[in-house]
Amino acid sequence: MAVHPAPLPAAGHARPTAESTPDPRLAADWARRVDALSDEVRALLAVVVAEGGQVVADHFYGDMLEDPRASRYLNVDQVRERLKPSLQRWLVALLSARAGDVNALQATQEHVGQVHARIGIPVDLVARGGRMLKDDLHAGIRRHAGSEALAIEAILCANGLVDIALESMTRAYTRSREAAGQVDGAFRLFSLIQNIGTERERQRALLLTWENALIYALMSEHPGAATPLQISNSEFGLWFLHKGMASFGDTGETREVNLIAARIDSTLRARLPEALTHADRRELLDELRVGADAIRSLVSMMFDGIGDLESGRDALTRLLNRRFLPTILRREIALQANTGRQFAVLMLDLDHFKSINDTHGHEAGDRALKHVAALLVENTRGSDYLFRYGGEEFVVVLGSVSREDAVAIAEGLRNAIALAPVALADGSTLQLTGSIGVAVQDGHPDYERVLARADAAMYAAKRGGRDRVVVDDGGLPDPPGAQALRR
Ligand code: GH3
Ligand code: MG
Ligand code: MG
Repeated sequence: MAVHPAPLPAAGHARPTAESTPDPRLAADWARRVDALSDEVRALLAVVVAEGGQVVADHFYGDMLEDPRASRYLNVDQVRERLKPSLQRWLVALLSARAGDVNALQATQEHVGQVHARIGIPVDLVARGGRMLKDDLHAGIRRHAGSEALAIEAILCANGLVDIALESMTRAYTRSREAAGQVDGAFRLFSLIQNIGTERERQRALLLTWENALIYALMSEHPGAATPLQISNSEFGLWFLHKGMASFGDTGETREVNLIAARIDSTLRARLPEALTHADRRELLDELRVGADAIRSLVSMMFDGIGDLESGRDALTRLLNRRFLPTILRREIALQANTGRQFAVLMLDLDHFKSINDTHGHEAGDRALKHVAALLVENTRGSDYLFRYGGEEFVVVLGSVSREDAVAIAEGLRNAIALAPVALADGSTLQLTGSIGVAVQDGHPDYERVLARADAAMYAAKRGGRDRVVVDDGGLPDPPGAQALRR
């Protein structure tokens, strides 16, 4: 409710978004509260909203705009043109609802909660907004109620309705943030450990190397030489500290590995200065072996746990899987807010792909997709992100670009696709074209927005005859210096 955004513009076609799953218990409670409203209270609330809705919205957003954090999500024009009228409509809908409206109301709150989650609005801002709203409603109710008893009844009812709407929003917010957090975490793992199979074997070997060096030193004439061979300083230990823990996260397993490693190291520090008898060495070696075995199996379990991250890349094209797109766009939006670096989204859909499959077969179609993926890699920078977005649709996220750069890159891609024919298995070649929509991020905090704009531009390119680039210029012009950023 802090920002209460208007719905996004409809994309060219429906894109799956986070599912909203209404809560039947909440809906039942909501319906009960709505049913319990007396006609007198309804009439009073209607008057309060009709006469005071404008003031409530002014006050609400006036306060909101004073919070420096809110300036990341809100600008004055947005507030005046969209958000204030939208908040007033929301109040009317909430306070005049009948039991039959509850499901739709709940769906609206869920949607708003999801938008808040995508944008990353701090929950305390939403809670503060709710409190201010209630204060203003109470004042309005007191002014218009004929009696103290009616005022109290209306205040209780209004509080209940505002609270339940907030609960519904918060519920969707929490679920969306949790889901996003899981994907963010998965991406973190994925990006840190690019090749899980290789890394697993390498770390296994490094752990063994450390163990062997230590056993050798312990068995030598001067076991004191083993003192520097602490696991925390070994190559495995360093990897685990810097990358393993960051990748696997703070889990029971990672904590256990740290405990065992610390125990081994402190034993070594405590015992090695002593002269060791044969029995001492045996005991130390046994302890060491048990510890190293435990670490090996724990690390192996951690690698098993992230094995499915290989699916972070699309199997056919090796481009990123679209499930990481929100993670990347959120990151780019934050980067833009912090550094002013503008990014752009290209939405590419290959033209008449169905007929390519129909004419040349599915295998040729797959070859064409790989071919286009390779062209994308060749014609973008290492800092750009390439996604397979759908069947024959690709999304490119270009970091640190001006509008001109983004258009030039899109044109370059379009050209490369049109000029480089696909070599088919039978020796023949296949000519492809693609339609590209370009949207430069305009500072809107919701990543769905820039995607929807790129999507709409891509559809405009299709309508315009295909094999072309269309830019959505709903965005702002380049900020000064943006051109210099790319190079
Ligand atoms: P348009 O120019 O309007 O984009 O026409 P189109 O035929 O490309 O239409 P659309 O984008 O709706 O169709 C996409 C087709 O791409 C559907 C399917 O036959 C094909 N396709 C999707 N995924 C794959 C894939 O993994 N391999 C192959 N070979 N074909 C695919
Ligand atoms: Mg398509
Ligand atoms: Mg197509």
